[in-house]
Amino acid sequence: MASQILQVFSGLRSAYAMGGTRDKHVVIIGAGPCGLACARELVRNGHDDWLLFERSTTAGGHASSVVDRAGFTWDLGGHVVFSHFGEFDLLLEEVMGPDVAEHERSSYVRHRDRWVPYPFQNNLRYLPPADAYECLLGLVEAAGVDGAHDFGSWMEGTFGAGITKHFMRPYNTKVWAVPPERMSATWIADRVSVVDYRRALRSLVLAEDDVGWGPNNMFRFPISGGTGEIYRRLAATLADKVRYEHELVQVDASRRTVRFANGRDHEYDALVSTMPIDRLVAAIEGCPQDVREAARSLEHSGVRMIGVGYERPLADSRSWLYFPEASVPFYRVTNFAKYAAANVPDADTTRYRSYLTETSYSDDRPLRDASLADRVMEGLVEVELVDTEAPVTSVHEVDIAYAYPIPTLGRDSSLATIQPWLQQHSIYSRGRFGSWQYEIGNMDHAVKMGIDVARLLLEGKPEELWSA
Ligand SMILES: Cc1cc2nc3c(=O)[nH]c(=O)nc-3n(C[C@H](O)[C@H](O)[C@H](O)COP(=O)(O)OP(=O)(O)OC[C@H]3O[C@@H](n4cnc5c(N)ncnc54)[C@H](O)[C@@H]3O)c2cc1C
Repeated sequence: MASQILQVFSGLRSAYAMGGTRDKHVVIIGAGPCGLACARELVRNGHDDWLLFERSTTAGGHASSVVDRAGFTWDLGGHVVFSHFGEFDLLLEEVMGPDVAEHERSSYVRHRDRWVPYPFQNNLRYLPPADAYECLLGLVEAAGVDGAHDFGSWMEGTFGAGITKHFMRPYNTKVWAVPPERMSATWIADRVSVVDYRRALRSLVLAEDDVGWGPNNMFRFPISGGTGEIYRRLAATLADKVRYEHELVQVDASRRTVRFANGRDHEYDALVSTMPIDRLVAAIEGCPQDVREAARSLEHSGVRMIGVGYERPLADSRSWLYFPEASVPFYRVTNFAKYAAANVPDADTTRYRSYLTETSYSDDRPLRDASLADRVMEGLVEVELVDTEAPVTSVHEVDIAYAYPIPTLGRDSSLATIQPWLQQHSIYSRGRFGSWQYEIGNMDHAVKMGIDVARLLLEGKPEELWSA
């Protein structure tokens, strides 16, 4: 009730503040977290003149979930809910109420035949002594990162040779599917735990675990329906103003019209796009050559998500596990039944468990492996997550073609060519692949970008998260 009163009040307040912008027709492309949050913010501010178009038949985008035929729920890659923004917390509270559970992260890195608590670099005491010594020596000798522009030099300069060799390089090469030297070092901030030798030495000598690092050491997860439940419920509040099966295929930026694959056209005053920015630019007629080339230079990776459901009781209390080594194809496995019992059939974790695995690929490192699912299942046995006899109840596979927007060395200058041109034409490209900025590529960031762009359009308020 309190939130409804707040909505009416904030609607009246901004109707007053908006003045001439109330008659803007806003078209939003994409019903993922960013597009939905943008629509919700327009509604909250009393602006009704908008429509959202989504190419698929459901909401959620990369943050959607499905239930397979055997009754297992799967996300598109292991998602956990954590937040840097009060607006995201509020949205979650209003949409989900009590239907989310809080979890403490329990995460490990597989190294040789053992499990090292995450972050690896903070917990060297779990390594075989020779590896621990090599990692610690590297930390002491690390040259620092002055002048390190690429991620490869950054990791060598920050962690030294040992940690780089045993974890940072193999793991990151596996996740990003491009060499770290092709990536910039500008995105790292709260994405990589930086440890100095004193802290590592303390953990090693005093036998202390150091596992609390990072923004996701506590996380939330819907009690049923997977991560996608948040966005299913959010989309339902926006009712028929969300139009599914409308895939944008063409934009006429001078006439301000969009065309969809189903042949329909639609006019806009402002276009908020959350589809991948390279595809958006490719769809714009008469776009200058330098903008086109800049968009073509952006690189992304893909992920093959393979979920495996077993008829075996849930016996593992860990959240997710990292795999830097080449012996198994996946870089990460999520113990998905642990997030919510409802992720397995009949919510019966005394009978079922499920592992959600992610294997990445890129143009640099293609993955043409028809038998990937077999290799994944062999891998799950090899790393001792299941026994060889465990009956497989379900194998669910999704190819996520756009999974990670890669922060390559040339990314920022490409975006600096693309985004101002779009904005001059009232096109606002936001969200994980709309901004193409991995460092603000999580759900809370996407929601915040959607809210901010709505406020920009209605009130002229500068955006707080995204910047050109
Ligand atoms: C493997 C993986 C793991 C992740 N883990 C986490 C995590 O643990 N925590 C977290 O917070 N975030 C995580 N994320 C990120 C999270 O999924 C994104 O932050 C979020 O989904 C981005 O929302 P968005 O709205 O910007 O984009 P999207 O979710 O990509 O939504 C864009 C929408 O646009 C639609 N669309 C695309 N093209 C068109 C078109 N031509 N016409 C019409 N519609 C179109 C798409 O169908 C989609 O619905 C993860 C992502 C991946 C891939």
